[in-house]
Amino acid sequence: MRPEILYPLFAPVTALPGIGPRLGKLFEALSGGHVVDLCWHLPSGLIDRRYAPELNEAEPGRIATLTLTVGAHRPPHNRRQPYRVPCHDETGAIDLVFFHPRKDYLAKMLPEGEVRVASGKVELFQDRLQMTHPDHIGTREDLAELQSVEPVYPLTAGLSLKIVGKAVRAALAQAPELQEWNDPALIAREGWDTWHASLATAHAPGSFDDLLPATPARSRLAYDELLANQLALCLVRAHQRRQKGRAIRGDGRLRSRLIEALPYRLTASQTQAVEEITADMGEPARMLRLLHGDVGSGKTVVALMAMLSAVEAGGQAVLMAPTEILARQHFATIEPLAAAAGVGVDILTAREKGRARTEILDRLKSGESGLAVGTHALFQDEVAFRDLALAVIDEQHRFGVHQRLTLTGKGRAADVLVMTATPIPRTLMLTSYGDMDASRLTEKPAGRQPVDTRTLPLERIGEVAAAVARALDGGAKVYWVCPLVAESEVSDLAAAEARYDALKERFGAKAGLVHGRMKGPDKDRAMRDFAEGDVGLLVATTVIEVGVDVPEASVMVIEHAERFGLAQLHQLRGRIGRGTARSTCLLLYQAPLGETARARLKILRETDDGFRIAEEDLKLRGAGELLGTRQSGLPEFRLADLALHGDLLAAARHDARLVLERDPELEGPRGQALRTLLYLFERDAAVRYLRSG
Ligand code: ADP
Ligand code: MG
Repeated sequence: MRPEILYPLFAPVTALPGIGPRLGKLFEALSGGHVVDLCWHLPSGLIDRRYAPELNEAEPGRIATLTLTVGAHRPPHNRRQPYRVPCHDETGAIDLVFFHPRKDYLAKMLPEGEVRVASGKVELFQDRLQMTHPDHIGTREDLAELQSVEPVYPLTAGLSLKIVGKAVRAALAQAPELQEWNDPALIAREGWDTWHASLATAHAPGSFDDLLPATPARSRLAYDELLANQLALCLVRAHQRRQKGRAIRGDGRLRSRLIEALPYRLTASQTQAVEEITADMGEPARMLRLLHGDVGSGKTVVALMAMLSAVEAGGQAVLMAPTEILARQHFATIEPLAAAAGVGVDILTAREKGRARTEILDRLKSGESGLAVGTHALFQDEVAFRDLALAVIDEQHRFGVHQRLTLTGKGRAADVLVMTATPIPRTLMLTSYGDMDASRLTEKPAGRQPVDTRTLPLERIGEVAAAVARALDGGAKVYWVCPLVAESEVSDLAAAEARYDALKERFGAKAGLVHGRMKGPDKDRAMRDFAEGDVGLLVATTVIEVGVDVPEASVMVIEHAERFGLAQLHQLRGRIGRGTARSTCLLLYQAPLGETARARLKILRETDDGFRIAEEDLKLRGAGELLGTRQSGLPEFRLADLALHGDLLAAARHDARLVLERDPELEGPRGQALRTLLYLFERDAAVRYLRSG
C-alpha cells in the first residue's frame, strides 16, 4: 500500500486549482496524469526578470521589470490598431501595447494614475519605447516576486508557460518533506540537500548553469530515481533467487555428438559461455541468465548446447523467438544439428493448426518431444510439458522484465536463458537487467570479413542499381532494404512494393519481395527462393532485421538510411558479412543530413563493433530513445539521463545491494524510507516482493 504521506502527490492533476478536465488531458500528455508528474517536469530554460532599469536606461530588446505610473488609456480608432496605455516614470515614458484586449480587464489591471509593475520585453517602435503584451502585471508589492528568474518549462499546444508554471508551483506545494532514504555519508560527500529542498531548487534556477544535469539538486533527484530502479531490480532478483530451482546436469553424450557434427569449431567465447550456462543449470537455484552477443556471434549453437544438456538430464527445452520468421529460421538451423545428436525438434507457432497442432501438443505433453522451437504460442495455456527444464528466450528486446519472469510458470522451476542480440551498453544493461548473470560472446566466428560500408546520397541510386547488377552477375545475393516511412506499416509497404516493381523491370525474376504483411507460407517461400533459389535480389522491409540468416548474402542496400536508428542499422548490416565472401553495405541517404544522422552514418563506416555502436548510440540519442524504449521493455527515466549520470547509476547499484544485504526486508528506519522512495517512483510491484510489503 502506498504510504499516506504520498497521497497528495498521486492525486490526479485535476485536483490542482485551475486544472479542469480539459487542461487535465493536456497535462496528461505533457507530463503525466498525477501531481507527482508535474514535480518531475523540470525546467528546460529560464527568463531573467531581474533587470529593473529606469526608463531612460532601459535597453530595447531586453526583458525588463519596470515600475511605472499609468497614464490615460488610448483605445484604438479601429480594430486593426492596438490599444495603448501610455506610462511613465521620473526619467521617461513607455507605451504598454495590447492587441484585441478585453477593456474591462485592462481597466482593472492598469488603473489610471496608479503605480504598477510590468515585466516583459522592451522594444523601440518609431522612436518610442513600448512593451507589447507584458508577461506579468502587478502592483508595487508584487515587485520582488516579479523581479525574479522565471523557470521555463517544456510546453505543448494549448498549455502556455503561465499555465504550466502555475500548475508546477501548485504541485510543488503538495510535495511533503520525506524521511531521508539516502546514506548520510553520500549526502555529505556530494553536498546534497534533502529531497524536498532539491526539488524546490531544481525548479528555481537562478542562472543557466543551474539547468545543467550535474547540479547538486538535479544530481540528487536523478540519484533517487536510479536508486529506486536498482532497488526494485534487486528485490525482483532476490525474490527470483528464493524460488526453488533444480539442478540440471546432463552427462554430455548429446552435446559431444553435436560438437562432432558441427562443420566448425566453437570459438573460445562460445565454449566459455556453454560452460558458464551448464554450470549455472547444474546449481540447485533457478537460473536466470543472459546470453549477450553481437549479431552473428553464434548464439544459436550455444543455446542448443544448453538445451541438449537439459535433454540429457531427462528434461525438455524450448527456444522461443519474437517473430514467426525468426522461429522458422531457428528451427531450420537447429533441426539438422539436433538430428545429428539424435534428438527430434518440434516447431509451434500460430501457423501450426488442426491435426498437426494436436500432435505437437501431445508430443510435448508426453515428453516424446524433447526440444521445441516457437513463438509465444509456446506459452499459451493449451501447451503443457512433461518436464520443461530450460526455456531459452531469444529476446531481441521484445519482452519486458516482468513478462520474462512470468513466462517460467510452465516448467517445474525451469531455468531461463535470455538471448539478446543488440548489444546493450553496460549502463543500460544495469537499469534493465540489474545484476542478472550474463555470458558474453565477445569474438566473432573465424573467417568473417568486415563489411565494407559506404554512404551515398539518394540521387546516386542509378549507380547503385548498376553496381547491384554487376554483383548479381557475379552470383552475389543482395538485400535491398526499404525504409520506415512513418508509423504506418501500410506506407512502408507501399514504398517497398514500388521499389520492387521498379527493380523487377530491370532484374526480372531475379528480384523478390518480402514484407511483414505477407502470409506466413508466402514469407517462407520468399525467403527460401532467396536463400536457395533463383532470387538474387530481395527487396525487404525491416522484417529481415531480426535474425534472418542467409550466409551467402554479401551486398546490402539500405534506402533512406538516415531514418533508421544506429542500432537498427547495425542489426540490418549484420545480415551480411556472415559468409567468407567480401561484403558491401551501401547506405543511401537523403541530403542534406542532419548532424545526428551524419554522426550515425560515420560511426557505421568506422566500426563494426556492436558494443561500441551501442555506446555511441546512447550518447547520440540519450537512453530514452535508444532502441525505442517502449517496445524494448527498458525502463524510462524522468530525472536521470543515463548518458550523463552513468556514475550515479553505478553508485546507486552498489548502494542498493548494500542496503538489502543489511536489511533485506527494508524494515529498519532507512528501510522504511526506502519503501517510500520505491512508491514515489512507482516501483510498487517491487515492494510486493517484500514479506510485509
Ligand atoms: P547470432 O544468433 O548470434 O546472430 P547465429 O547463431 O545465427 O548468430 O550464427 C551466425 C552464423 O555463424 C551461423 O551461420 C552459424 O552457423 C555460424 N557459426 C556459429 N558459430 C560458429 C563458429 N564457431 N565458427 C564458424 N561459424 C559459426
Ligand atoms: Mg541468431
